[in-house]
Amino acid sequence: MSANDSVSDETQQPGQAAVDRELVEAALEVARTYARGDNHTVAAAGRNADGRIVTALNAYHFTGGPCAELVLIGAAAGQGAYELTTVVAVGDGERGVIPPCGRCRQVLLDYFPEVRIIVGHGSELRTVRVLDLLPEAYIWADHQDD
Ligand SMILES: [Zn+2]
Repeated sequence: MSANDSVSDETQQPGQAAVDRELVEAALEVARTYARGDNHTVAAAGRNADGRIVTALNAYHFTGGPCAELVLIGAAAGQGAYELTTVVAVGDGERGVIPPCGRCRQVLLDYFPEVRIIVGHGSELRTVRVLDLLPEAYIWADHQDD
């Protein structure tokens, strides 16, 4: 099965948003075109509230270089895209959609509480709220003094 198969047969259950196929394709294209070596192995794409798509690659470093999703947040802000509504990450080598790590789930939640994440494998891609990926989440804003 190719990665293209994974974006054409997604399932949708009640309460889930449709899978943004264009967004998945944008991330796949960046991974195919620009992923290089061991430093850039995961691409992310984000849909901004105004409809724009922003893309990014991770920047691996042993000290904790940012995942593609975190690079995406900064890249989007650098283009004036401050309201990401959907995010997806894909691996190089046609690994397809990969879920965000724990750190990225928390950061995405704090930046964009309503953001949706495309997850799943093969023919079962689906779109879920980031909060659904973080049961009993710590909400940073709830613990600030002002
Ligand atoms: Zn991550």
